[in-house]
Amino acid sequence: MRLRSLILLALFSLTAGAVCVGAIRLQESPQEAKMPQSPRTISRSGYSIARLPAADVERLAKNLTPEQYRVTQKSGTEAAFCGNLLDNKKDGFYACVVCGLPLFSSEHKFNSGTGWPSFFTPFDKDHVAYVKDESHGMERIEIECARCGAHLGHVFEDGPRPTGLRYCLNSAALNFVEKGQPIPLASQPLPLKTAYFAGGCFWGIEHRFQECPGVAGVESGYMNGSTEAPTYEDVCGHATGHAEAVRVLYDPAKVTYRQLLDGFFRMHDPTQLDRQGPDVGDQYRSAVFTTDAEQQREAEAFKLALQSSPKYLGRKIVTVIEPAKRFWPAEAYHQDYVERTGRACHSVNPWPEVFGQDKAPAKAH
Ligand SMILES: [Zn+2]
Repeated sequence: MRLRSLILLALFSLTAGAVCVGAIRLQESPQEAKMPQSPRTISRSGYSIARLPAADVERLAKNLTPEQYRVTQKSGTEAAFCGNLLDNKKDGFYACVVCGLPLFSSEHKFNSGTGWPSFFTPFDKDHVAYVKDESHGMERIEIECARCGAHLGHVFEDGPRPTGLRYCLNSAALNFVEKGQPIPLASQPLPLKTAYFAGGCFWGIEHRFQECPGVAGVESGYMNGSTEAPTYEDVCGHATGHAEAVRVLYDPAKVTYRQLLDGFFRMHDPTQLDRQGPDVGDQYRSAVFTTDAEQQREAEAFKLALQSSPKYLGRKIVTVIEPAKRFWPAEAYHQDYVERTGRACHSVNPWPEVFGQDKAPAKAH
């Protein structure tokens, strides 16, 4: 359950003794309920959030103290004002005590006066899972580690701005990693790589790459034009030369650059010059913007092979392949457009064919 599909409706009520108690409900908007849920295995900030098998969690849980085990594996709650991280004011992040996933950051910590460490937002909204908890005759939202399912605490809607949320944590569920100290391997992000593509309206291209296994994040933006910080209006005016493009963060152990190229050429028509379907203009040109010589070589070789295939007999592929200049993120209302609105363009989902036909094991490069 993603954070934005959480709507916290009923008001929080604080009982005597300031314990973690509230009355809030989970509800999806009709629009969100209709949309297909695509469970991420890599978070937006680049960490593996593939759910660990029960056997792995069991193995990790053997390293816990009895109190850590009771809290994380048996949904326990530590006594108020007793946790070792309540008064911690050092800079750093708070990782899951079981699997190491970073869950909260010192910059979002605040003193709630409740006796438990409190944060107004998670380290990454993909790192925390939400579960309706109706135990003890109350209706609360329990929070779990998205990777290993460890119980962390609860979330209430009496927090400070800007979120208005209070993530109420058990110290026993967390390991603090101080800024400047070595980061344990389990708390490190995946070694992701970046690729850039332009193939018409970025709404649809962004959406198709978001569906690709092994892709951590996709952002819409403008690139390879002649001005700084262009706006959508600038780009539509055709005077700046920017293309509507996407920045793709991917895990090379799960999807190769070649597979990304394959999907890209399937999800749009690379024979259309400065247009894509009804969208006409140089901002809709087909382009691969490369980050290094290896990507440049691989993209050119892929295009050459594709041009020689029967599919493109008598049809010239016009895709431009050139080094990436600075990527300028587009306005917020262009991000996750298809995911937010359900409106679709670029209707071909290329990934079943890409992964079905290319059986070669993914290799890092
Ligand atoms: Zn965990």
